Amino acid sequence: MFSSKYVLNDLIKDKNFQYINHHFAYKIFQDKNSNNGELMCININNQSKVKFQYNKIFISCGPISSAMLILRSKLIDKKEILLKESQRFYIPIFLKNKPSFNYEINKNTLPEIFFEIYNNAISNQSIHLQLYSFSEIMLKPFEKIMGNYANSLPKILPFVFNNIFVLLGYMHSKDSNSLNIKYEGTFEDISNYTLSPLNSIDTKKIVIDLLNLLRKELNFFIINSTFLNNSKTGSSYHYGGSFPMTNKTNIENSTNLKGKLNNYENIYITDQSVLPEMPGAPTTFNAMINAARIANDM
Ligand SMILES: Cc1cc2nc3c(=O)[nH]c(=O)nc-3n(C[C@H](O)[C@H](O)[C@H](O)COP(=O)(O)OP(=O)(O)OC[C@H]3O[C@@H](n4cnc5c(N)ncnc54)[C@H](O)[C@@H]3O)c2cc1C
Repeated sequence: MFSSKYVLNDLIKDKNFQYINHHFAYKIFQDKNSNNGELMCININNQSKVKFQYNKIFISCGPISSAMLILRSKLIDKKEILLKESQRFYIPIFLKNKPSFNYEINKNTLPEIFFEIYNNAISNQSIHLQLYSFSEIMLKPFEKIMGNYANSLPKILPFVFNNIFVLLGYMHSKDSNSLNIKYEGTFEDISNYTLSPLNSIDTKKIVIDLLNLLRKELNFFIINSTFLNNSKTGSSYHYGGSFPMTNKTNIENSTNLKGKLNNYENIYITDQSVLPEMPGAPTTFNAMINAARIANDM
């Protein structure tokens, strides 16, 4: 599995690279006409404030924190920013037929099957699905009633637990609702913001259409239909599109194709915020490869 720690460990060997950790970036001072700026940080170990000077700054705090840093620093006139999401759903299902692939109960905790659905009758965008076979997490509801005895259930009832699957899906941001992030505090105040869902799309309908389609291929029933309601706006952790890369220069909170923030010459954003849309798919790879592309261009 990839961990950015390995990239960092390689970079640290370079004498031109200095890594300063345990610092929280809380304000950027940047004049639009200057090529130099200052970053104020808090050392999270001793709460001391430290100021760094820069010629170029690359912000990569993740979509929520980057938006917060930019709003808090008043780098844009807007007080709120739209955050796009790829909404998630997960549904426990029972396959009526014996699965034809082999897996061993108690040995698999990672997804068994990844697949993408392209079906214009449901959506013009792809929908990403992961089919999980049995894992201990599925015993949690039984543990409430049976305590530790629940752990022996898969051995006693393999014909039940072999056929229980969880279908996890991600929808494209065009099929999902968005979030509004608003900062109302002073710059010293790092917590005074609100994150509110903007619900206009009926994601449950998309999920139900998708399940009806899948039922034709996989013979299953839904174990608990209350899970159909679990695609809550903001619950997926797959956010972005807040500072979209675009060729247009008339949008304050947009970036160019190198992640440069509009109206500034030396402020770049290199995290998931700059992806214009959130695909119905795992998002980390896109964020990493885009950041690497921007870094290589520099
Ligand atoms: C529980 C969970 C599971 C996930 N599983 C998957 C998955 O299986 N596959 C997938 O593709 N995606 C997954 N994601 C989503 C994925 O983690 C994010 O999409 C991705 O990490 C976003 O990358 P980023 O570079 O934009 O921000 P991040 O990876 O969030 O990086 C931001 C960094 O900046 C630091 N930071 C934040 N604010 C400040 C500040 N003010 N000062 C200094 N540092 C700051 C943070 O500590 C963090 O290290 C998951 C997310 C969560 C929460």
